[in-house]
Formats: sequence, structure tokens, C-alpha cells
Amino acid sequence: MVEAEFHHHPLTPFWKWITFTCDICGKEDKDKGMPYMCQPCGLWIHRSCASFPRSVKVMRHKHLLHLTLSSLEFLQPDPRICQLCVQKLDTRYGLYYCSKCDFVAHLDCAIFKENREDIDMQKFEDEDEVPELDELVDLELTNGFTYNCTICEFDLDVVCSLKSDIFTHEGHEHRLILSNTTHTQKCNCCDNERCQVFRCTTCEFVLDFQCATLPHTTRYGQHEHPFTLSYRVEDDSGEYYCDICEEERQDLKYWFYYCEDCSYPTHPNCIIGKYPNYKFGGAHTFDCHSHPLTFVEENKDHP
Ligand SMILES: [Zn+2]
Ligand SMILES: [Zn+2]
Ligand SMILES: [Zn+2]
Ligand SMILES: [Zn+2]
Ligand SMILES: [Zn+2]
Ligand SMILES: [Zn+2]
Ligand SMILES: [Zn+2]
Ligand SMILES: [Zn+2]
Repeated sequence: MVEAEFHHHPLTPFWKWITFTCDICGKEDKDKGMPYMCQPCGLWIHRSCASFPRSVKVMRHKHLLHLTLSSLEFLQPDPRICQLCVQKLDTRYGLYYCSKCDFVAHLDCAIFKENREDIDMQKFEDEDEVPELDELVDLELTNGFTYNCTICEFDLDVVCSLKSDIFTHEGHEHRLILSNTTHTQKCNCCDNERCQVFRCTTCEFVLDFQCATLPHTTRYGQHEHPFTLSYRVEDDSGEYYCDICEEERQDLKYWFYYCEDCSYPTHPNCIIGKYPNYKFGGAHTFDCHSHPLTFVEENKDHP
């Protein structure tokens, strides 16, 4: 008999190679075909899945999340969105859940080290102590992300007092949520692939930090007009170039800067150059964002 932290019955090893679908991770696994089972509940569980912790604390949520065998708690098997990676989550299997806030997360996302908060779980064993946890988290409202941009070859420390990590950008019609994943995701507006991006909850749109923080307007050398960040191609000619480097703009979805007076389009990298004109050390407020973001150049004095 084996005890799994998250289940109130002991689990029995099943000494036969069988094909089954794990009730925790939802995967069918022929190679690991010697599962644990819970006879009273009719559950089949991978040996490796029996070791998920009962509760975890993630940075993005103030309460503890509890491992839930969701088929027992969710009445309708609605597809939900994991609030850590912002991708679909199948509620027929195990997930981490806060019932107070209806917050759901994939098992792997909740235990991913980038998301998980290291706290002394013993202290919060008793549910009644959760309010104390709230206070503790309120003191640490500020999340720090480091954004490493390989194209610009510098690190941005994006310090953002985003309690919910939700924002909207005028380049996209739906709201976006910060997504942390172990694999890279390709930005829809440029060539970059990142593990930390913003994702749309409604469609498959992905926006990386670099594009999310592009200034709305910028200047180029002695050019007399400002250039505006543009989200849709400037005409229907079918041929789109950057007038600085004279190379083609590869994807019609990619954002670019445009001087309308002169019909002068450019790649963001070509006009902004290696060092974007962020006001280093100062707060940078986008019109699209409800909270000020502060960009700090890594090598200079940190606050
Ligand atoms: Zn499993
Ligand atoms: Zn059981
Ligand atoms: Zn997830
Ligand atoms: Zn909660
Ligand atoms: Zn991008
Ligand atoms: Zn969308
Ligand atoms: Zn260019
Ligand atoms: Zn111009």
C-alpha cells in the first residue's frame, strides 16, 4: 500500500503491464504500465504521478492551490484555461485548484520552478491560517521578471506590480495574460521564441515582452516626422519592405514602424536599434497597460 498526499485512500500497486489512462495526468502510457490503483474510487494512477504534492503555492496566486481530481468536483467538463500558461486545460483529470477564486492550473505548470513559490507548507497546513498568507503576499505585491533579449543583447528587469498579470494592448483586441512555460512559444508579431510571453485567453495570439514594450511612437535620426507602431500592413501591394535595411518584411502579421507622411515603413529592430529608447530606471507607462512598468538596465545600479 502506498499513500499519495493528495488522496484519502491508500493506493495499491497493480503488478501487471496494462494500458490505462492515468486519472491524474490524463495521459495514456503503455511503457509505464504498472500503475497504482484506488479500488474504492476506481482510479488508475501512474507511479510517478502519485508523488504530486497535495498543495502548492504559486507566485501568481495568493492562496494555496490543492490538487483536485476534478471529475469529482467539476460538474461540467468545461474546457478551462490554465492561469499560469494560459493554454487549455482538460478538467476531466487532475489539476491544481483554488475553490475560493476558481483559479485552475495544470499540474506541471503549478510545480514548475518559475511559477512555484517556496514557502514553508507546514505553516499553512491549517486552512484557517490562509488569511495570514494573504497579508504576507500583500507585502510582496511586486513581481520581478527578468526579460533576457538575445536580439538586443541586454537584460531588462521588468518590475511590474501586476497583481493579476493581465493587460490589454491596442495591437490586439482581447486581453492578454502572462504565460510561463517550460517550452518556448513564438511571438505572433516578430521572430522571437520565448518561455515567458503574454497569451490571449480567447484566441491563440502570443506576444513577447519585446513587442509588448515597443514604444507607440519613435523617431529616426534626422527624419522630421515621428514613426508610429503599426499592426496591419500599410497597403495591399503584396510586397512589404523595410526602407532602412531594404530587406523584405517576412510576415504580414509582424508589427512595424511607419511614417504615414512619407509612406516609410521600417522593421522595429532597424529603427530602434540595439538600445531601444526606454527611459532606463524610470517608470514607463503604456497607454495599453493599467500598471506602470519599470525597465532597469541590468548592469547599472539596481534599486
Ligand atoms: Zn499520470
Ligand atoms: Zn480513493
Ligand atoms: Zn498550464
Ligand atoms: Zn484563491
Ligand atoms: Zn515579438
Ligand atoms: Zn486574442
Ligand atoms: Zn529593416
Ligand atoms: Zn516622414
